[in-house]
Amino acid sequence: MFTNAQQLLIKSIIVISLSFVANSYASTENVNTSQRFLTEKDIHQMNVLKNEALSSTLSYQIIESLTTEVGHRMMGSVGDELAVKWAVDKMNRLGFDKVWTEEVTHTQWHRGEALARIVAPYAHKIVVIALGGSVGTGDNGITANVVHFNTLADLKAAKKGSLTGKIAFVSYRMARHIDGNGYGKAVGTRVNGASIAAQKGAVALIMRSVGTDDNRVAHTGVMRYKEGVNQIPAAALSNPDADLLVNQLNRGNPVSFYLKMTSHIEPKTIIKSANVIGEITGSELPNEIVAIGAHLDSWDVGTGALDDGMGVGMVLSAAHQISKLTVRPKRTIRVVLFAGEEIGLLGAKQYMIDHKDEIKNHVLGAEWDFGLGRIYQMKTGVGATALNAVREFAQQLAPLGVSLAASNDAKAQSDMGLLSKAGMPSINFSPDGSRYFDYHHTENDTFDKVNLEDLQQNTAVYTMFAYFAAQTAVDFRK
Ligand SMILES: [Zn+2]
Repeated sequence: MFTNAQQLLIKSIIVISLSFVANSYASTENVNTSQRFLTEKDIHQMNVLKNEALSSTLSYQIIESLTTEVGHRMMGSVGDELAVKWAVDKMNRLGFDKVWTEEVTHTQWHRGEALARIVAPYAHKIVVIALGGSVGTGDNGITANVVHFNTLADLKAAKKGSLTGKIAFVSYRMARHIDGNGYGKAVGTRVNGASIAAQKGAVALIMRSVGTDDNRVAHTGVMRYKEGVNQIPAAALSNPDADLLVNQLNRGNPVSFYLKMTSHIEPKTIIKSANVIGEITGSELPNEIVAIGAHLDSWDVGTGALDDGMGVGMVLSAAHQISKLTVRPKRTIRVVLFAGEEIGLLGAKQYMIDHKDEIKNHVLGAEWDFGLGRIYQMKTGVGATALNAVREFAQQLAPLGVSLAASNDAKAQSDMGLLSKAGMPSINFSPDGSRYFDYHHTENDTFDKVNLEDLQQNTAVYTMFAYFAAQTAVDFRK
């Protein structure tokens, strides 16, 4: 029960919130009367597409199909090969006008097996996973004492030679945040930690997983060796296992750790994959491209439902809904399902080479590579005049609870970030990313985590976006 004072407070909060809502609607109406970029017909069409997406299960079915019939699909794996065929077939069935593939190649890496345990003072089995691209330990594994660092900066500050014969351990824990900003602060250890540790003499790097969960499941992800530095094995511990190791280290006695990994690189074996591309041809400006993308590959754990099955489902469904319209929007909508994102944006890099002369024709782009949450914000990276058109579009998204960010410097996510850097105007949709890093790059990235209603909302936003960008003749660079 509430006291009178509390009730009063609640009432006034409600009144304030309602007047805030009323004000925002009032300003929305004001702008509506002076619309210059969207016609009544466009707005009607967009709302028809929205309502269809909100009641359709197509994107959900696409993710179910990908995770069931293909499963995980690390570049160069059997699953990856299957995924390319799956994507070509899906695009053809979904009514794309043109569907093709563009080859992407790389060298082979094998994950192998990873085993770990604390040997002394208190023996425990430890859950670990090899970081993507890591070398192995050799058949006998590595047994060495652990040196503990709270952060990557602490590891960097260690003296040269101070880790000789030791295993370096970074226990930094990623913070949970709605926009996922904890990831950027944590991922440096995963990408660069091994070479930094090796420069100090370490024989292996172990780290707390880059993840926000409390499961006894470890998170993989790509790592890189610095040229000219000794390549040492690198592995991530599950969060509870990292805690266990910290607890032993906190007692102040030497902690001996055993790590065995059979992962290995085959620099001479070239693996092949492909970007899969499909288009809905524009009715008036077919050479102008609205690019919407996701990555087709995944890590070889889980089934890649969230990373990036979600994106695949959303962009395929958006293009399909638009393909059914009797009058197509003016510009071409190009869906790009990128290869090899996880191991280093390989598909995107190849796309930049293959489409070098065509990047200028990419009028606007967006990629989805941020998992399962509901979109709450749109961020823009467009010209000042075009921003007015985007503001009109934002009014159509407002009823879905999507606001427009104040800044105008957005780059597209993941692969399409390279196109953004090359000058493609971009839109970035921000979802609630609070839970994404519970599952990211783990065995728990599976279809059951996909929430139908959130997916429908996100698919509606993407469908409306693709239509808006293809239908308005505005130059988004200006
Ligand atoms: Zn991803």
